[in-house]
Amino acid sequence: MTGDFSLPPATAEPRLHVARRSLGRLKSVPGLAARYTELQDVRTLDDLAALPPMAKDDLNTALDHLDPRAEHGATWLFQSGGSTGAPKVGHAPTGFYMAGVHAHWQPLDRTDVFVNAWGAGRMWGAHFLAAALADLSGCQVIALGSVTRAEYDDWLGFFAARGVTAIGGTPSVLQTWFAHARAAGLKLPALRKVLWLGEAWQPQLERDMAEVAPQARRWGMFGSTETWVVGTNTPDCPADTFHTLPEQLVHVGPDDLLDFTTLDPEMLNPVLRYRTGDAGRLVACPCGRPGRAMRVLGRRDSVVQVRGLGLHVDEIVAQVEREPGVSRAQVVITERDGRAATVEILLLTAPARDGAPDATPDAERLRRELLSSTFTLSTAFQHDPESFQVRPANELISNDRTGKTSRLVVREEA
Ligand SMILES: [Zn+2]
Repeated sequence: MTGDFSLPPATAEPRLHVARRSLGRLKSVPGLAARYTELQDVRTLDDLAALPPMAKDDLNTALDHLDPRAEHGATWLFQSGGSTGAPKVGHAPTGFYMAGVHAHWQPLDRTDVFVNAWGAGRMWGAHFLAAALADLSGCQVIALGSVTRAEYDDWLGFFAARGVTAIGGTPSVLQTWFAHARAAGLKLPALRKVLWLGEAWQPQLERDMAEVAPQARRWGMFGSTETWVVGTNTPDCPADTFHTLPEQLVHVGPDDLLDFTTLDPEMLNPVLRYRTGDAGRLVACPCGRPGRAMRVLGRRDSVVQVRGLGLHVDEIVAQVEREPGVSRAQVVITERDGRAATVEILLLTAPARDGAPDATPDAERLRRELLSSTFTLSTAFQHDPESFQVRPANELISNDRTGKTSRLVVREEA
């Protein structure tokens, strides 16, 4: 089964001592120990493929118990999944493992003026990870973070005046930047590099970039707060294909589900056959770089990206369907230019039960509760909370072709 791994046995197996250490740590976690047998070991890739995969909750259970600390410098706590309630936590040392990334991928150099437009604060990892890469590259950095709608034009003027050559953010954020520039007729002639991470690439972005910054090319990273950066690509690679790092072992399981195992001895998260919910395949990259690259096919779980954050559709729907008077619920995301413009929750009301008073769900109270208790919603709609709505409906939206009514509907607004 070694053909399903990103690295050949001769390269991966000498590094499996890291996976063995992760296994030992996981066996010490009361909530997880029962999943592994006493004799289970990781000497070969076949041994690894025989271990049970981990889900997000398993990793959070492990981290709660292990509470790992960095060998040197600070231990940073970052948001790790979980869109409801308090943020779940992942750990990373200062540096965020970016030296290993920089050894294989150098989109920035000393001459660059780099705008770091990933949001800073709120325990998000990407801004700091990009800052670590900039540090290794020796470029100039403009640590911008997120800005409000009214500020875009002034900042774009500043970028042009400073001769900004590179910008980085999630595709949703980049989309907003380029759409604003295009609408305002602003050009960024010096911009050559667009770094991205956090979501799938958006083709619309390419069209706006061609108008605003004709020299700009995309440079992608793939990863999560649990695994950190797994792979990278260049403008010569397809946007969904990434060259994985030697300290990241990727395995393709049933249904093309990807799982990740860290081979980095510095890694604090015990990532051992960890599933992010992404599906993919190992392919030859058209850029011609030898070895197998990871082509990402999208997600296979119920987590959907809303403005760069994961929204757990099944959790939300289950919570709403516990409400009196609600028989079924559906999450409807309306996208504009590939970005979530609004999120609506439709409530199919339950018929009154044998003469009992009709329980009409209180949509506005439910809306306020969801907005305050759901991390993804409160953060994604921080500046326009009115774009999140809950409303009763006589029927939910069905797919005419399949007749199915799914818990999630994503619509493109014309
Ligand atoms: Zn490539």
